[in-house]
Amino acid sequence: MQEDKFYEVKKEILKEIEKNETIIIHRHQRPDPDAIGSQVGLAELIQTSYPDKKVYTAGVDIRTLDFLSKMNHPSLEDYDDALVIILDTANAPRIDGKEAIFHGEKIIKIDHHPDEDSYGDIEWVDPSASSTSELITDFWVSFSDKLSLSDKGARHLYAGMVGDTNRFLYRGTSPKTMRLAAELMEKDFSHTKLNETMNEMSPEVAKLTAYIYEHLEVSENGVGSVILTDELLDSFGLTDEDTHQIVSLPGSIQGVLNWGIFVQQENGKFRCRLRSKGPVINEIAKEHRGGGHPLASGANAEDMTEINEILAKFELVAIEYKKNLKQLA
Ligand code: AMP
Repeated sequence: MQEDKFYEVKKEILKEIEKNETIIIHRHQRPDPDAIGSQVGLAELIQTSYPDKKVYTAGVDIRTLDFLSKMNHPSLEDYDDALVIILDTANAPRIDGKEAIFHGEKIIKIDHHPDEDSYGDIEWVDPSASSTSELITDFWVSFSDKLSLSDKGARHLYAGMVGDTNRFLYRGTSPKTMRLAAELMEKDFSHTKLNETMNEMSPEVAKLTAYIYEHLEVSENGVGSVILTDELLDSFGLTDEDTHQIVSLPGSIQGVLNWGIFVQQENGKFRCRLRSKGPVINEIAKEHRGGGHPLASGANAEDMTEINEILAKFELVAIEYKKNLKQLA
């Protein structure tokens, strides 16, 4: 067993949780199953272990993630003397509900994105973890003599792990991820049902899936792209929120190395959902008002000109990646 280099910071976090009567948990804007799963999973872990504490979850409710849990929305007064824990969020500007956090007493950051923005009084950042849900599961297991996790909490955390690893497919999945997932599976919830729910799509999203496969443009170097205009999403009866289910699709096509799905927003600008099977893309995302993981990032583009700039950079990293592969062969 490897030495746990985060044990001391985890102990400090536990001490803060034990000390505070009110705990408010935040996560990033436009949440995914890991953001919500880790948030409501941690809330459930704390509430089950310390029934007298007041535990709140902050941020907007997301229709497509209703199968997890809704937020219980703290009021501004609840922040007085509260401990604020922010999960899965690399940069302070991306915190959902960021306006309220400084009304709290102390801020703890727990995250698995590359460490860029230090905004917490206490920080546990481990980019080697598959997901923030993995970190929260690790926290539970590290202090299982003091913390108890309900079946519901285990389901939330399992959903987060499944979401961020794409069912344990992505590179971030480690033996530790599987060991912690196994701990969660010991609890009484149906992982099969949960996977089915997460895997299921509406007939509208099924049609969008067909559209993506049919209209994906793939360059000679393996760069994929699809533009989803506001009008097009409207014609499918879908919104930006629904696009999380189609982001990974291009990766299953032979020859596609890195890709972008560009989703037009109400203001005409584009949300860029960027993914890769090898070339590192988060540096490119950062150059376009975004960031994220080396192989899964997000950015913002003003218009088609900026989208084309991003795609041109994708070509360069794809060429470089292939060249390096050849040299290694
Ligand atoms: P998404 O395509 O929104 O699922 O984002 C993929 C990854 O990139 C997630 O880990 C996000 O946290 C990160 N990300 C997305 N948008 C941004 C942004 N504007 N700034 C920083 N990170 C982002």
